[in-house]
Amino acid sequence: MRRPGARYGAARRFSGEHGVTEQDFFEEGALVAVQTTQPLDRALDYKAPEGGCFRGAFVEVPLGPRKVPGVVWGPGRGDYDRAKIRPVNRVLDVAPMRREMADFLERAGEYTLTPLHAMLRLAMRAPGLSDPPSMRKVFRLGEGEPDRQTEARKRVIEVLQDYGGLAFTLKELSEMAGVTSSVVKGLAKQGVVREEDTPRDMPFPRLDPDYAKRDLTEDQAVAAAAMRAGIEAGRYGTTLLRGVTGSGKTEVYLEAVADTLRKGRQALVLLPEIALTAEFLTRVEARFGTKPAEWHSGVTMTERRRIWKMVGQGGAELVIGARSALFLPFRDLGLIVVDEEHDTSYKQEDGVLYNARDMAVLRASICEAQVVLASATPSLESWANAEAGKYQRLELTSRFGEAVLPEMRAIDMRAEEVPRGRWVSPTLQREVSERIEKGEQSLLFINRRGYAPVTICRACGEKINCDQCDATMVEHRFLKRLVCHQCGETKPIPEACPACGKEDTLAPVGPGVERLAEEAAALWPEARLAVLSSDLFASARALKEGINAIAAGGADIIIGTQLVAKGHNFPLLTLVGVIDADLGLQGSDLRAAERTFQLMRQVAGRAGRSERKGLALLQTFQPEHPVIRSIMAGDEEGFWSAEARERQAAGVPPYGRMAGIILSSPDVQQVFDLGNALARQDGPLRAVGAQVYGPAPAPIARIRGRHRVRLLVKADKGVRLQPALAEWVGQFRLKGDIRLAVDIDPQSFY
Ligand code: ADP
Ligand code: ZN
Repeated sequence: MRRPGARYGAARRFSGEHGVTEQDFFEEGALVAVQTTQPLDRALDYKAPEGGCFRGAFVEVPLGPRKVPGVVWGPGRGDYDRAKIRPVNRVLDVAPMRREMADFLERAGEYTLTPLHAMLRLAMRAPGLSDPPSMRKVFRLGEGEPDRQTEARKRVIEVLQDYGGLAFTLKELSEMAGVTSSVVKGLAKQGVVREEDTPRDMPFPRLDPDYAKRDLTEDQAVAAAAMRAGIEAGRYGTTLLRGVTGSGKTEVYLEAVADTLRKGRQALVLLPEIALTAEFLTRVEARFGTKPAEWHSGVTMTERRRIWKMVGQGGAELVIGARSALFLPFRDLGLIVVDEEHDTSYKQEDGVLYNARDMAVLRASICEAQVVLASATPSLESWANAEAGKYQRLELTSRFGEAVLPEMRAIDMRAEEVPRGRWVSPTLQREVSERIEKGEQSLLFINRRGYAPVTICRACGEKINCDQCDATMVEHRFLKRLVCHQCGETKPIPEACPACGKEDTLAPVGPGVERLAEEAAALWPEARLAVLSSDLFASARALKEGINAIAAGGADIIIGTQLVAKGHNFPLLTLVGVIDADLGLQGSDLRAAERTFQLMRQVAGRAGRSERKGLALLQTFQPEHPVIRSIMAGDEEGFWSAEARERQAAGVPPYGRMAGIILSSPDVQQVFDLGNALARQDGPLRAVGAQVYGPAPAPIARIRGRHRVRLLVKADKGVRLQPALAEWVGQFRLKGDIRLAVDIDPQSFY
């Protein structure tokens, strides 16, 4: 057995590998600074352990009575009594952190104003990193014939012959051969089957870039070639890959993945939604012959540890993941794809507030990698960066094959007769009925989960609010409960009004996806309905199965929330009806127009993905609204230019800088006092020409019992805002249970 840490600890032979050099070696007893994941404001000094250690080594150090993990960040500062400095306990058996990763964490931390210990925690999100290397037994084909041949024994040998040189665990092998484990053990005793020890964390099978190459269309080939140049050169560059849904963006960036693998570098594909990964993995397998590593919250702990380790050792070539995959310790990352780059879920909204799209660009620029931002409806940020020449812009203009973009039409709801408590207009109803007759699918889209957004008492007008939050409870009939969409609190639907005590007076107001389903069932009693809302499925797998069944024709009408807008393929779908196209325009969010435009285009793009032509109908009370009109006209460039002009005039992102400050406390006076003090002592901000607005109660003024106050900081584009922000908030000590979060480039303002 190897000594724990033997591989990455003392051995000088590791010089040169993992980006560490001779200068980065610390002899036993030398002072090293160890950055831990503990909430301290600096790295601490320790003595290098027996045998020495490298910069970047993952180590375990004593901290008070505890042992904590950390990373050797550099030479010690030497400003602490040497006699009291303790040695590093041990070096962990994982590849050391590369310099570029350390740089990335430091710079991402500076950008988001996050302390290094919190950044390091993001980079160590795998369990069991400090466990000694564990082994497991596997079985492969040995030599000779068994003393006595039986049916069962024959099957074991056949399985091993079928799979060439591969080895399997006892469980795998006996299951595959359909025998009990004693059969395998019996063969092992005779040497016909060989028993071996291998490390538990196995490398991933290699992907074959030439396994199933596609013939690309002309503009797909042009786009792939344009990206190849940067990959070949092994340098940093960002490409905005724009094309309508179905134009083949995925095909094109899989080519970039293939080129990256041919260069011997690793690739990372970020997806906005876990539910999309299963479909995507199948696609990768069809293209490269085997499945890649998959990283997100639904992956088991052992698999997480395996991926984390293998990525660092080069035993995983391609990772498909959620935004946190950006913090995996890639050995040689050559490409990052951010699919649906405009998607708001790339912004982490609690803990460390970072935008994975922007951090992907930062990481790539540090490790000389290429970034591909793919979208049918890019964010204005990326659009502006392409306009400014910072990003290369590639366009896929037509849909693959016969399909064409759906026709878009507005339904003017002012001219429609819709009964109270109903939301489907007669025009939309007719179109859906026609589709049902033709055996085609329709999608009714409403971006609201649950049955009704508000429950109101008809007698006294009381709205049922969450006790913890300043938000109405949403009725979920499926769960038979009221749910707070802010904190997740639920309670049974009361029989009597909690305010006036009258019974049977509570009534739902407004539509949600469940209520729309009820209406559809009444309008089309013969039709097969499918409701797609994230909260109606127990797991990503169940959702995936539901989606597959629908795609295969298992429903006539799909009723869905935002979930359906994201990348699923429904070949029989030819009609999309948007129940309330105005919904997103009501907010005061600076991106309201952009979001509505993107969402409506994405949803409409679900129709007519194969040979049949699609139609998208948008119900609206304001068909003359500029955003609704540009959606109808399909004039994307026009929309972006107009939106860019407005933001430029207002000096807001991407043409100005913004930061949100969110203060929260159970004590309302305390948050306002601190908010006012921040607004008064704005010297550090004024010094760089930045302005502060507020404090104001946040739109959701209370969440989970904490009162919330916001301030907004605005500055010119060129200003280095972070140091000024740090100095500004650094003037205050946070007392009691008050929390202060700084949100750089805020995406949501709730
Ligand atoms: P997007 O990512 O832009 O939505 P996809 O890459 O998913 O588009 O392509 C849409 C569909 O067309 C997929 O089923 C894909 O396999 C198919 N497709 C696109 N380009 C090609 C091609 N060059 N050869 C074969 N099939 C293609
Ligand atoms: Zn709540």
